[in-house]
Formats: sequence, structure tokens, C-alpha cells
Amino acid sequence: MSISDNSSDISLDTKKHSFSHIMAAAVLEMFPEAKFGVGPVIENGCFYDFILPRTLIPEDLELIEEKIKEILYRPLLFKRQELGLEEAVVHFRDKGQDLKVELLMDLKEKGTTKMDKEEKEIFDEGEVQVVSLYRLVDNNTGEILFEDLCKGPHVETMTEINGEKNSENKSIGFKLDKFSGSYWRGDQERGIDMQRIYALVFDNDEELGEFLFQRNEAKKRDHRVVGKDMKLFTISNLVGAGLPLMQPRGMVIRKLVEDYLWQIHEKKGYQRVWTPHIAKVDLYETSGHAAKFGDELFRVQGKEDEFILKPMNCPHHMQIYADNQFSYRDLPIRYFEPTTVYRDEKSGQLSGLTRVRSITQDDGHLFCLVDQIEEEVVKIVEAIKEFYATMSMDKEFWVSLSLRGEDHSKYLGEDKIWHQGEQALENVCRDLELPYKKVEGEAAFYGPKLDFVFKDAINREWQLSTIQLDFVLPERFDLSYINESGDKERPVVIHRAISGSLERFLGVMIEHFGGRFPLWLAPVQVKILTVNNKEEVLEYVNKVKLILEDLELNQPLKHNRIRSFVDDRDESLGRKIREAEVEKIPVIVIIGPKDLEDEMVSVRTQNGEQKMRLNQLKEFILNNTSL
Ligand SMILES: [Zn+2]
Ligand SMILES: [Zn+2]
Repeated sequence: MSISDNSSDISLDTKKHSFSHIMAAAVLEMFPEAKFGVGPVIENGCFYDFILPRTLIPEDLELIEEKIKEILYRPLLFKRQELGLEEAVVHFRDKGQDLKVELLMDLKEKGTTKMDKEEKEIFDEGEVQVVSLYRLVDNNTGEILFEDLCKGPHVETMTEINGEKNSENKSIGFKLDKFSGSYWRGDQERGIDMQRIYALVFDNDEELGEFLFQRNEAKKRDHRVVGKDMKLFTISNLVGAGLPLMQPRGMVIRKLVEDYLWQIHEKKGYQRVWTPHIAKVDLYETSGHAAKFGDELFRVQGKEDEFILKPMNCPHHMQIYADNQFSYRDLPIRYFEPTTVYRDEKSGQLSGLTRVRSITQDDGHLFCLVDQIEEEVVKIVEAIKEFYATMSMDKEFWVSLSLRGEDHSKYLGEDKIWHQGEQALENVCRDLELPYKKVEGEAAFYGPKLDFVFKDAINREWQLSTIQLDFVLPERFDLSYINESGDKERPVVIHRAISGSLERFLGVMIEHFGGRFPLWLAPVQVKILTVNNKEEVLEYVNKVKLILEDLELNQPLKHNRIRSFVDDRDESLGRKIREAEVEKIPVIVIIGPKDLEDEMVSVRTQNGEQKMRLNQLKEFILNNTSL
């Protein structure tokens, strides 16, 4: 039986916000001398800042959680009261809540308690005379558990969040996540030390459980940790943040992905081009990128000219096209170049491989007739699908189709071509039955686009591929082709990237596979471990190596030779196995002293260990490429 009422309509933000007061009430019960800062709603929950008589210990969180559970089942109401500003100051001063008094004084003097992003004070001209106070009151006894300066909204009673009175009969799912030190109003110089408790708040326990599971998985798969364990890449302080260096093993994967991308593109009629990493400022002034990227550009002062470290490849590719006079029969022209671009992101925003300053795009530009857009976009979508099927990320994806929408004022280019371009992209989505969402008003100023969002193994979404039509760059660079009547006409440019960026994509892949790359991508596919280093054992190892050297995989990439490594150190077998497992080696071949006479090997994979004849090893590897 379903109980009909509207409490399930209460927004999660209202629940999170109400929870922050409940948490504060529980803290007050434990520490009556606590002073209260503020307790905003954040992603996945809320936090509250307190001044407490002692430093919190992990066990405190459990005690506070217990108190919250009690509070949730008490007959409590959130009651609102309006107070004059002066009255409120006196009220909170009497209670010793200096921080609240400070907020009220700010309201009085500046009309706001807000700070800007850099925690600087801002002023609001609005006059404040009345403030609202919320009290958490026991409906039976009248006891006030907690009161706060606040605008709401809150749930009215605990029953709306404890599961007693909502349509699903489910309590909110919550957990006090962690605590940390903080400063009052983020102001380190004033140095008012506070303690912040973070809470996770979800609609119910199932959703909380799912979040915790996923967070734990994400932590285990963190590419910065796995990448270190597997020795894939390095961030060096001397080189700089956001400038990752590829270790040999990381480079194996990166090169394979790049080669595979080229294999796909070559089949579709692309040609490789190459461009230098710097260009004169004039190029980016013509293209408009100098204005667009502003202070994200790295500038390079030469002896005579000023250069820019390229933030995009498009203008360079435009110049390659411009040096030819193509006819309509030559089009489409398709250029492909995996190359690095540089953008000066703030150092605080840089992280691992996913937020970097050097971004290697698998970039490509097409030059085509308006009538060819649809056919060419179909080919790019086919390439995207092939690539992500191989990476086993094609099960769930969606496409965002960004259009101009109603207001055309911020877009450049002729109406007619915009209309044709938007129509072409939507036709592709429909004909190929792509799961797509139209977003009006989100197109780039130069043309409509398709962005592809893929889900990884733990259901996180990553926006990776993009296909963008451009009606503006051909104009800016005065590009043309000769049409059937012998006149010059403008081609349409299509920008496209499949993996997005090789750095970010490697980061995503490490987390998607949890480091356990499919056999064709694993940096070391086979590790041969010896039990001892007697001469006859090492001779046998060479025999195994010869067999492997002869072996190559041809799917999905042609001529992908097996990469093997011998661990014949004077270490215990147990230790060698453990290390190989940390490195996530797909096939571990163990050679014991008795294996020599019978020409046997033990083969260990994530599916277990088995003994086999040496002449079966090749077959075994070829039949287990999904390892
Ligand atoms: Zn509130
Ligand atoms: Zn481009």
C-alpha cells in the first residue's frame, strides 16, 4: 500500500540542509560549549564548522552519529522566528555565539555575510532589518535542541526524513564522513581554528551504499596510485605540475592506442600531417584563438618574433590546406595528427593525467562540401564506435547534440549553412540510432557539435569524443575550393577527436580497467618467474622466451608482438608472484626445477593457475586474449 503524501517531493538539498542543523544539534549535545560557524550544503551532503573544546578523534564521529539517530526519531519540528537585527545580535551574544554575532554585524554593516570566491568581503547595498532564526524544537516538551541563523527551507518534522511519513517509508541514508581543521571564513591570517565535520546525505541507505561502493572502487582504481604501482608515468617537480612524463611501460600503452587510432583513421581515408609546437602570434590572431584563450596561452619570446606555444592545432591545419588549390573533386580532405597542445591551467587545478598543461589530442580536421557533412560525420561516428567497442566502453553512452537554439545573436556564420549543418548532425543521430539529447543554445559560436559521453566500468561518465562543424575558420583563413562552375567556394571544416586527449584517456583507461589492461594493451603481457637461477633453468627460460618472441597478436591492432619479461632475481618465488600481481601482469609463467625434464610450465592468470606443456603456451595465450 502506498501512502499518499507529498513529502517524497522534498528536495535532496532541503534534506541535506536540514541535516546540517541536526548534526549541529548532536554536536551541541556532546559539547555544550561549542561555538557554531556555518554549515552549507555541498555535493553528496553537507558540512558544519565548529569551535570545540578539544580536538575530535575518529570515535567522536560514531558517538555523534548515534546522537543523530536518536534526534531523527524525536518528535521535533523546525520552527521559524523573525527577529529584529539588533535583537538577534543581543540574543546570540547572550548565548556566547560570537561567530553568529559577527555574521549579524556584517549584515548590519555591509548588507551581506557573503565573501567572494577569494574569500574577500563583498558589499551588498540592500538593507537588512529582520533576520530569520530556525529552532529545532521538541513538540512534546518544548525543549529547544538547536537554533541557527538561517533562511531555510527545511523539512517540517523528522518524520519526513526518518521514513515514518514518506511514500517510500525510507529514512535518509547518512554517514559522518570525516573531519578536518578549517579556519573561520577561510581566513588563515585571522587564524580562528575550527573543526569541520563532513556528512554524506542521500535519499536512502541504498543510494548511500551505492555511493560508498563506487567511491571505494574509484579509490582503488585511482590512476595516480595504479599508475605509480605499475610504473606507467611520472610527475616531476622539476619538470612541473601538469606535465606528465611517460615511463617506458606507460609509453607502450600510449603508443598502442595511438597506432590503433591511426589504423582506424587510415582505413577511412585520412592523411597524416605534422605541425610544429610554436607559431607566430599572427596565426592565433587570425584564427581568433589569441582572444579566446587569453592568459591560458604560453608565450615564447624569440630573438625577433613573439611566438605562442600552440593551444590548438586547427590554425596550423588550415595553413596546410590553404597551400593547395583543391577542387570539389578532391574533397573531402582529411588530416590526422596526434600532437600535443599547451594550455596554462592554474596549478591548483592540475591533477595526475586528467588535468594537465600538455594535452596530446588525437586531432583531425576535415574539409568538405556542405552536402558531404552527413556522410563524413557518419564515418567519424563509426570510428568512435569501433574504438570504444575495443575499449569495452560502448555498452552505455550518450551523445549531446549542441544547437543554436532560439537566440542566434552569439553565433557567427550564415543562417542557411547553420540550418544545413544542424540538420545533418541530427540526421546522423537518427539514422545511426544514437542515444542523443538536443541542447539548444550550447553550440560553439562557429558551429553545431556532437559530444560523446561514455560510462566506465564503475558507471562514471566521461566526455571523450567530439565532432564539431565550423563555418567560421574557413572564412577567417580565406579557404576555398573550386566548384563545378570553376568558382571559388568555402569548404566546411569539421574538427574531431576520438580519444579526446591521450593523457586523459590513459588516466580514464587505468581507472576503467583498474590497471588490468586487456592483453593487447598490457605493457608487459607475460612475466617469466624462475624458482632458482641454476644454469639449466636459465637455459630453459631462453627456450620459453624464443617461443614468445615468435608470437604476435593481430587483434585489434595488427602485428602487436608479445612483450615478455624475465624475473630471475634471487628473490623468493612468493615475492616475485606478489610483485607481478601488483603490476597486474596478465600471464605469469612459473618455471620450477622439475619442469625442465618434462618441458612443462605453470601458467598463472587472474583465473587461477594451471600446468601445461611448453608447446601449448602459444595456443593458450592466443586463446585468452581477453585476459
Ligand atoms: Zn537552515
Ligand atoms: Zn580543431
